[in-house]
Amino acid sequence: MAEETIFTKIINRDIPADIIYEDDKALAFKDVNPQAPFHCLVIPKEPIATANDINEDNAALVGHLYVIAAKLAVEYNFAEDGYRLVMNCNEYGGQSVYHIHLHVLAGKQLGWPPY
Ligand code: 5GP
Repeated sequence: MAEETIFTKIINRDIPADIIYEDDKALAFKDVNPQAPFHCLVIPKEPIATANDINEDNAALVGHLYVIAAKLAVEYNFAEDGYRLVMNCNEYGGQSVYHIHLHVLAGKQLGWPPY
């Protein structure tokens, strides 16, 4: 089991967040430092530290994060224009919170590649 992070505090309502989706397995909330007009994080309630910890046992849970992202794209009306789903891993990937999270970025033309 991964260490507790700030995201566990958000799940437990110990600190506030702008929560836009919740079910028994996952949560989505607005990123506190948005990098696009729409920027939320979709996280599993079970803490998984990094993408390196994704395996056959938690694959359905990780897949569920993508299902939520696709639903949010419809609900917030950016499915057709397009959006980006990103999961950063470890130092070179730019990960700062060690509880996996899917960034959902939308609402403008996003640049690529991410130098
Ligand atoms: P990473 O760098 O790990 O891929 O992404 C972590 C994200 O979490 C960052 O985009 C950062 O802005 C966001 N973040 C960090 N702490 C908090 C917080 O307390 N509340 C919210 N809503 N977002 C946070």
